Amino acid sequence: MNCTKCKTRAVIKLPRHHAAFCKDCFNGFVHDQVAKAVKSQKMFGKEARILVAVSGGKDSLALWDILLKLGYRADALYVNLGIGSYSERSHEKVRRFAEAIAAPLGAALHTHTVEQEEGAGIRELAMLVHRPTCSTCGTIKRYQFNRAAIEHEYDVMATGHNLDDEAARLLGNVLHWQEDYLDKQSPSLPASVEGFAKKVKPLYRLTERELAAYCVLNKIDYIVEECPMAQGAKTLLYKEVLNRLETESPGTKHTFYWGFLDRSRKETGSQATMEQKDRTALHPCQTCGQPTTAEICSYCKLMTRAKTPSVS
Ligand code: SF4
Ligand code: ZN
Repeated sequence: MNCTKCKTRAVIKLPRHHAAFCKDCFNGFVHDQVAKAVKSQKMFGKEARILVAVSGGKDSLALWDILLKLGYRADALYVNLGIGSYSERSHEKVRRFAEAIAAPLGAALHTHTVEQEEGAGIRELAMLVHRPTCSTCGTIKRYQFNRAAIEHEYDVMATGHNLDDEAARLLGNVLHWQEDYLDKQSPSLPASVEGFAKKVKPLYRLTERELAAYCVLNKIDYIVEECPMAQGAKTLLYKEVLNRLETESPGTKHTFYWGFLDRSRKETGSQATMEQKDRTALHPCQTCGQPTTAEICSYCKLMTRAKTPSVS
């Protein structure tokens, strides 16, 4: 098998693109896909200060690496969730990448430690407030990433969501006709109100397999295992189903998600309506000042409940 571009020995085959690439041409392909995503979705310009949400997994470390290699000003934030040895190992992967690859390119790593800042690890906090761990985690991560982006004056926040993540999320939203979520599913969400950072997903054109290959070929050491709390998550089932379809019919995920993006683009004004809705519904949280639709934001409510001793 030879590289479709330069005809030397290929190291990876990409059936959905009817192509095979050697290492250099594959890196070029990955960088091109990210550059296209940034340009077509108007994510950010060359001068923007970007904050990448890193977890220690392949997607977020690949994203940080690619943005730096493309010459962007990208720092990162790692949230240590306090999930025993899993968090220790993922933190170590992030620290090593930051020291060896990001720091020499002038990029900084910010760290937020849930046990220090919120008083307990994510599992304990979830138990204290009687909520599922992943929903507690989502509230804390969303809040802390947005806060860091605003406080450190980043122009945009980038996450490592890839094509598999977005297609699985779309499948879940369509299966349950979650229209509100469908309205907000986009690779680029503007900073609709003051106090909310713009959020982008520059990896939406690349699959999990392509990103894993990018890390392996470029010797980016990442945590292979999933977060232990992810077991049984519906998203994993949706990904499995889509992978089966993809094996039978390469390009399925791509067609499914691209079709959705094309249709949402045609719905002229839907983004504007969404922004308008956000603008009128949001005001500052009475406790912390971050934008919220209620008097007190969900993070502050969660922290109050976690600190209130249980009467039972
Ligand atoms: Fe957080 Fe759940 Fe994801 Fe783990 S699986 S990082 S707990 S949302
Ligand atoms: Zn608040």
